[in-house]
Amino acid sequence: MPNRRTFLKGAGALPGATWVTPKASQSPARDYFPEIGVKPFINAAAAYSAFGGRNMWPAVVSAMEYARTRNVIIDELQEAVGKRLASIIGCEAAMVTSGATSSMTLATAACITGTDEALIRRVPDLRGIKNQVIIQKSHRYSYDHGVRSAGVELVEVETAEELERAVNPSTAMLFFFFLNDSKGRIHLREFAALGKKHGIPTLIDGSNSVPPMSRLSEYLDTGFDLAAFSGGKGLRGPYSAGMLLGRQDLIEAARLNNSPHADTIGRGMKVSKEEVLGMLAAVEFSLDYDYSVENVRETRLVNLIARKLEPLSGVTTRVSYPETEGGRPHLQIFWDETRSPLTIAEAQKALEDGEPSIRTPYLALSDGQLEIGCAMLKDEEVDTLVRRIGEVLAP
Ligand SMILES: *Cc1c(COP(=O)(O)O)cnc(C)c1O
Repeated sequence: MPNRRTFLKGAGALPGATWVTPKASQSPARDYFPEIGVKPFINAAAAYSAFGGRNMWPAVVSAMEYARTRNVIIDELQEAVGKRLASIIGCEAAMVTSGATSSMTLATAACITGTDEALIRRVPDLRGIKNQVIIQKSHRYSYDHGVRSAGVELVEVETAEELERAVNPSTAMLFFFFLNDSKGRIHLREFAALGKKHGIPTLIDGSNSVPPMSRLSEYLDTGFDLAAFSGGKGLRGPYSAGMLLGRQDLIEAARLNNSPHADTIGRGMKVSKEEVLGMLAAVEFSLDYDYSVENVRETRLVNLIARKLEPLSGVTTRVSYPETEGGRPHLQIFWDETRSPLTIAEAQKALEDGEPSIRTPYLALSDGQLEIGCAMLKDEEVDTLVRRIGEVLAP
């Protein structure tokens, strides 16, 4: 009986032999999603978290594969990656987290505990210690749960005077949501300055404000002590990674509140060695990437779809640039309600339930219109999209 080695050698010598040594780098032949009954869809919406976010840069996958096959002390890796990130971004300190939301929880905990081990073990039980975070009423939103997760009470204010009056010995932090800057009475720079004036650390959620890459350092340069970012959105790092950037002492405290330390609020927010290194690769690649390519591509697609919809009678279009989508071009589609009496929700559902399934943005801007986002749309999906819109809106 031949041993394995001679067998392989022999097989390889046969004409037409197909034996190959399996390699981890080879993509699997299995088509998993259909096999397990997961329905494919055309993403004509955006890189929503619920839709899996952005696809990682290939360079990120390579970095993760590198880390997969090597041993490392997680704390040493965080330290080294943090240093490298801080130097290429141009900030004092950095850490990789399991997303912007986790960055917000860890930042809040850091502002409460500092490096005090007893306090770190207590969070989120904040009885008798700092337990308040001040926020503008207009900055309340679903993701402030990430701050509340640390156990704090959110104290709502509207004006600078109110904020100054609300500051007290229980105040741990001041929190700001970048996207609502124009909705509040206290703007970025003044908000950060109020924190400095009262010696209270300030945190900004800048999660999906990248690109432009300059945002990574901009908020801190404006005077914020900490800034939280998503890794799996514009930066195209691992879906479940993110960053907390800012003051050295607070980042050190945030790291002590995080995994791999066991008795901490952050133990459930652990980041793998693959994700930590993948995040670094994502930031490095993104800093070199010309993001205007994406805008050119999406503008081309939006105009192409508009042109292809022109022959449909009763259907008109307009290009918009919603702020909530970082100013990316979207196509608004209006229809003659006497021909197709569908509401927006019904039109969306008809597209979603059709074959193939098509998903459009959650929020249309106003009545009588559908919206299309092209960030995740593929060129080869345009004709199908146009056909289905015709079937639904101009039957
Ligand atoms: C996506 C998002 C978050 C959460 O980011 P994760 O990295 O998924 O935790 C927070 N705030 C805003 C505005 C977001 O868009």
